[in-house]
Amino acid sequence: MFPDRVLSGMRPTGKLHLGHYHGVLKNWVRLQSEYECFFMVADLHALTTAYDDVSVIEKSVWDMVIDWIAAGVDPAQATIFIQSRVPEHAELHLLLSMITPLPWLERVPTYKDQIEKLASKDLGTYGFLGYPLLQSADILLYRGTLVPVGEDQVPHVEITREIARRFNHMFGKEPNFAEKAEAAIKKMGGKKGKLYEELRTRYQQEGDVEALESARAMLADTQNLSHGDRERLFGFLEGGGKMILPESQPLLTSASRMPGLDGAKMSKSYGNTISLREDPETVTRKIRQMPTDPARVRRTDVGNPEKCPVWQLHQVYSTEDTRDWVVQGCTTAGIGCIECKQPVIDGVLAEQKPMFERAQPYLEDPTLVRNLVADGCERARDLARETMRDVREAMGLAYD
Ligand code: ATP
Ligand code: MG
Repeated sequence: MFPDRVLSGMRPTGKLHLGHYHGVLKNWVRLQSEYECFFMVADLHALTTAYDDVSVIEKSVWDMVIDWIAAGVDPAQATIFIQSRVPEHAELHLLLSMITPLPWLERVPTYKDQIEKLASKDLGTYGFLGYPLLQSADILLYRGTLVPVGEDQVPHVEITREIARRFNHMFGKEPNFAEKAEAAIKKMGGKKGKLYEELRTRYQQEGDVEALESARAMLADTQNLSHGDRERLFGFLEGGGKMILPESQPLLTSASRMPGLDGAKMSKSYGNTISLREDPETVTRKIRQMPTDPARVRRTDVGNPEKCPVWQLHQVYSTEDTRDWVVQGCTTAGIGCIECKQPVIDGVLAEQKPMFERAQPYLEDPTLVRNLVADGCERARDLARETMRDVREAMGLAYD
């Protein structure tokens, strides 16, 4: 069956910032040595909102890959590729659109949110509504089971799971599924012998809805079953035998919604970012100019860290000792705001130093990036073709 595999992507719509780093890239770096990882430049997704000015996409593609490498993504371990270079993304998106109920897309929270937030853009397009489904196609094309993303993307991974289930349910039916499931369960090894025995008995009572439900509940309870094994078994139970597309889950970091300079979510569109390779002078200036608790007008006024965006950055950058020092100093007016900001400035600069170093060779020789992406696109496409063979066959589109 399918091994756990990581798929994630980012849109080339401008410079990456520390929100991308703490929210997502740190997870990419952690996962790349444990799993097969596919990291995608989501240029088709960029088109859903930047279709009226495509120049930003072109400008950002290569620079974004350098940012990933700067953050510690290792092209020798992970596959880095461009979405539009693997046309199977578009094909799977189209095929999945045939079985996607419209309300599933209309109720995704980012849909209405973004339309409101980006009011100057006309997002009343077919492509924008299909944004989460395109993301489902991205994930399912590689049979990705683990999807490291920021908090706002979680509903998109959920929809992906629902689509996979629906697909397996509609197209994964197989005759003699009980026997096949039994064989597959046996193959998974004897370690969880008892559970498998139990499930096997239940499988044999095919059509028994109650048995199916209790088997599902049992699986959900089994903490020590690996995610992949659990999803595989769910797939059998739900799909009636053959799992063509696996179910995926989101992976979040502790800063899955990293705040920006004003305390709101750090985001390109809010102008509250520090970019990954921002020069040290600008970093220092931006943090020095951050607003603080509005009640602290004078140095002698006491403040409340909970009302200060700098405090949120201390959560990311400071040790417990420093945070104690902040609380003590702020609430007694023992320290000034500029003093309080210094450890954050130091933290950001220290974090960025190795990033500049890792980026340097790629900035000096742009062919390095071009070549590693070309290799990545080829590897991605091989796997995509494999999945599409199964998908086409399941949907009755294989005629030879
Ligand atoms: P921005 O939010 O700056 O406009 P974006 O949302 O357009 O960037 P995407 O390509 O949509 O960029 O997002 C890339 C990934 O980074 C997504 O998984 C998203 O959840 C995550 N992300 C973006 N901003 C943050 C943040 N402030 N904290 C945590 N994760 C974030
Ligand atoms: Mg976003």
